[in-house]
Amino acid sequence: MHPKESWHESLRNAPILDVHEHHIPEIYLSSKTNLLALFQQSYAGWTVKRPYPLPGEHQEESSLSPTLKLFGWDDLRPYLVERGSNNFVRNLTQGILALHGNSDWIWIDEGNWESVNARVIASRIEIGFQSKSLFQSNVIQVITDDYTNPMLNARESLGSQYQSVVRINAFALGWHSKSKDHNGNSAAAILSKAGFHPESFEDYLEAIRGLAGKMKSRGQVAFKNALAYDRNIEFQVPNKLLAKRAWGKSHPSEEEKQAFGDYVVDFICHLGAEMDIPMQMHLGTALIRSSHPMHVAGLIERHPGTRFLLMHLAYPWSRDLLGMAFVYRNIWIDLTWSWLLSPSHFKLALHEAIEILPDEGRIMLGGDNWHVEETVGSMQSFRSLLIEVLDEKVSNGYLRAEQALQLGQKILSHNAKAFFRL
Ligand SMILES: [Zn+2]
Repeated sequence: MHPKESWHESLRNAPILDVHEHHIPEIYLSSKTNLLALFQQSYAGWTVKRPYPLPGEHQEESSLSPTLKLFGWDDLRPYLVERGSNNFVRNLTQGILALHGNSDWIWIDEGNWESVNARVIASRIEIGFQSKSLFQSNVIQVITDDYTNPMLNARESLGSQYQSVVRINAFALGWHSKSKDHNGNSAAAILSKAGFHPESFEDYLEAIRGLAGKMKSRGQVAFKNALAYDRNIEFQVPNKLLAKRAWGKSHPSEEEKQAFGDYVVDFICHLGAEMDIPMQMHLGTALIRSSHPMHVAGLIERHPGTRFLLMHLAYPWSRDLLGMAFVYRNIWIDLTWSWLLSPSHFKLALHEAIEILPDEGRIMLGGDNWHVEETVGSMQSFRSLLIEVLDEKVSNGYLRAEQALQLGQKILSHNAKAFFRL
């Protein structure tokens, strides 16, 4: 028997294996972090300005570059007053208060912001503050996506609890030595740093294979496909002849670019099956006209031996994604970000996911954050929502309490551990 309090308490303290963060050493460990930077370098910042261009828009400088200017309440007001109902703002604020607050502060306001700011600045001088905070939240392992350095050895730069992924966007757009993805990464530069200087399309593919072969030695556990920010994700049946026509051109045609990306993504999926490296993929929002999860169904069908970890509940198309995960048994579900977008929708979708997924090993989570405060807020809110959903499932007789506890532990860490073979 599990009295309610005891299984709730167990899930509140169970270890978390966090499968997706953007803990980028230069930002995450920066000594130049103050309270305003936390809002600017987080999803709260996205409420003020979308940080990626839509087709036809001009790419401006990223809002994530560190700032340490003097600021006042008027700089924080746009977040804490004008956008206080937005869940990104709420989540970050709760995380900041969990690490830097007093017990009677329920929000950051004109009366306490200076004290909070002083504590944020002081925390960045304390060595190990970030890992200590993760440890206190029972986040025991983290997989980070440093899109500024796709070859990051995270264990060396962030600590022994870290692993990383290789973002593949630059490779899918790497037809020319000067072509770059939306993060400013160039395939030629990444490959050259690793000692590869491909002179033909075939050389290029072999260089990518060479890079993939070394991933395990750098603690890199998956490919990350975030191409929904760069192009449509309708990856077509590969056409090598057309793909090759883009090679070496500074301005290939749209058709050639598309074929190049399709071919490279398909090739990397083959490597994933061959080398047992899963592919984590962003779905939903981004370039929203072309990020619907059904667009990747062809790719998933063509690669039954590749394990796909599909992200964000493909918000707002969670039901379509869950339907796909029922049909294709090479899909796993990464809940990352989905409850930060909308906790209400998340609860409904998690109820459905529990009901329809073919087994209990399919769901995992990550925070998707740049700073430890946002990660701590994300993990706290995830635990609460998970317990709420499981408690509803126990109350209406769908699950027994011991089943709810086991399923909760699987979602928090066991599933990710098995999926990433950690
Ligand atoms: Zn992300």
